[in-house]
Amino acid sequence: MSDKPEKFIDENGLRLDGRRIDEIRPMKMEIGVLSRADGSCYLEWGKNKVLAAVYGPRELHPRRLQKADSVLIRYRYNMAAFSVEDRIRPGPSRRSIEISKVSREAFEPVVLTHLYPGAVIDVFAEVLQADAGTRTAAINAASVALADAGIPMKGLVSACAVGKVDGQLVLDLNKPEDNYGDADIPMAMTSDGEISLIQMDGDVTQEEFKQAIEMCKEGCRQILEIQKETLRNKFTKLDDVEISDDEEDVDVSALVESTLDSSEDEDDMEASAEQEEDETGIVEDEESESAPEDDEEEDPDSAESGSDLEDVEPVEDLEESFTDVDEEDVPEDEDDVENA
Ligand code: UDP
Repeated sequence: MSDKPEKFIDENGLRLDGRRIDEIRPMKMEIGVLSRADGSCYLEWGKNKVLAAVYGPRELHPRRLQKADSVLIRYRYNMAAFSVEDRIRPGPSRRSIEISKVSREAFEPVVLTHLYPGAVIDVFAEVLQADAGTRTAAINAASVALADAGIPMKGLVSACAVGKVDGQLVLDLNKPEDNYGDADIPMAMTSDGEISLIQMDGDVTQEEFKQAIEMCKEGCRQILEIQKETLRNKFTKLDDVEISDDEEDVDVSALVESTLDSSEDEDDMEASAEQEEDETGIVEDEESESAPEDDEEEDPDSAESGSDLEDVEPVEDLEESFTDVDEEDVPEDEDDVENA
């Protein structure tokens, strides 16, 4: 670890990395970087490199963890063993468990959790390279990954830290400021400026605390613009979808749907093919139970083929069988109902 610098801010008001006290580090983001995730985002912020992946909403197992009235958000913050100078021991630590918890809570005010009762949304934030401010970097990336996954949210969450060095508040701490500064206050905010995460390490006065919040608000506002721009870029790449100048004409849900459909990977398609096969199997079983005599008339060739899909009746045959049901069975059923 490098030694404590004598001064953090020079006579021109610039910090060790040349930034002004209220300036954030350069940030860039890319979305849709993982084909197997429902949403993903890779973020570089200064020397931090973070990858966020979102899976879901999907069914939650074991079922006892399901929430009857809302979706469960699971958030895992993890630092790769190679992300810092001294190798980090793999696996959860007190620090990573705490960061995962507070980060999950930072999203709870914005995600429309009531829409998916019993389901789970998994958010993974992997820090590949750490240089102070990784929890806030992970939240910024996770926020965009959630939007990329099409998770309904009231808005994005943006995060940034404010600290104190040389008796002055500074925005978005770099590594020496984080290590040797007098205070570190990471915060996350909704797009309305509501604070959904605030932590504090060190000492500040009440007045400084209020100033820190205002400073952070401005930082988060700038980050929100980068997040929105990243998302906008993705959707404007969908050349086939024409976006009208008139906002009322834009069907946003169709836009998101079409994006999600096109990003479906092979696994999803295989899974739906398997599901189709299963459903076919169920129909067959029901038929064989209700009409055992049909089994004798079954074409032996198709039975030998072993493929459920080949056994599916052509559409016209199905239509015929439904017509039969309409003509013969329904009146009896109606009688039954009346008798009951
Ligand atoms: N850090 C480290 N080893 C650790 C934890 C953190 O070297 O086990 C470094 C890392 O660069 C991190 C910085 O210390 O970004 C500040 O860590 P902190 O716990 O304040 O969290 P962060 O600011 O990254 O959210």
